[in-house]
Amino acid sequence: MFMMKVIHVSFITYLCLVSTFVDANEHIEKKISITFDDVPIHGEFALSPQSLANINHKILDTLKKYNIKATGFVNEGHLKDNAKLLQELLSAWQQHGHELGNHTFSHISYHQNDLNTYLTDIQKGAATTQIVLGKVKQKFFRPPYLHAGSTDEAQLMLDEGLHKLGLQLVPVTMENADYVFDAPYTNKLESKNLSEANTYKKQYLEFTERRLDFYESASAKMFDQPVPHILMLHVNQLNADSLDSILMSLQSRGYQFQSLEQTLQQPIYAQPTQAFKFGIHWLFRWDKSKDKKVNWASEPEPSQDEFAEHQQALTILKNGKL
Ligand SMILES: [Zn+2]
Repeated sequence: MFMMKVIHVSFITYLCLVSTFVDANEHIEKKISITFDDVPIHGEFALSPQSLANINHKILDTLKKYNIKATGFVNEGHLKDNAKLLQELLSAWQQHGHELGNHTFSHISYHQNDLNTYLTDIQKGAATTQIVLGKVKQKFFRPPYLHAGSTDEAQLMLDEGLHKLGLQLVPVTMENADYVFDAPYTNKLESKNLSEANTYKKQYLEFTERRLDFYESASAKMFDQPVPHILMLHVNQLNADSLDSILMSLQSRGYQFQSLEQTLQQPIYAQPTQAFKFGIHWLFRWDKSKDKKVNWASEPEPSQDEFAEHQQALTILKNGKL
């Protein structure tokens, strides 16, 4: 009888352990935080105030559809000539429950400026955002070009400088080179080539899928368990029109969306990271800093033609030839 009881209790304990293990795994399985750089607009070329408002509201509506609380990194300088619109759009992000982080005022590179100039630009970049946030403190910072310090010392100095401002640097583990694809797409839309624009959007979404496949496989090689990812997108027309498909894809891949705050609590984000001279996502940085398990040469990149089309479209859009 006693043995039976012991066996019974052990079996129950085992079941509890198994179920705890399963629950714990479920808890950490396939989580992702959605972040946008260059709120309220990427700003490579001028758009009408109406287009800017439409882009932001379409992104906000799509995030709402998926019940996502995202983080937007604000670049106030891109809309410095229209303070009213800037405040309206930032308020819309805040009212939808999204976090507003800092992305400098002038979109400058830390690698081309001294620390004091850089920190001053960061503070300048919070002026309108802080009016919108009221008593809420800005917490997060994303460095333009992902330039986070080209030496370990510079990286540490930036972290300390940000800490004094109450800011935390936010890594990226997934991105899809959206900034390469946006100008050609917008150019096609503005030229009223709707079917071409649609085909090009599909091309962008296919590229996004290839990048997601690659990052998932890279993460599986690098870590014993799924890592919570941070996806970086930019606020632009292409993403306003593609976000629904991107989020649907993430959902069908099994991702659950969670806030940036929750993702950053994972120990992986506290690990030391080797400094790099170029802007690159953190999966690469972590792998290069340690075991080098991934063949990074096989990371999908936009083709030469796609880069060329980007340049061509940018020239047209900047010169306002249309
Ligand atoms: Zn940016």
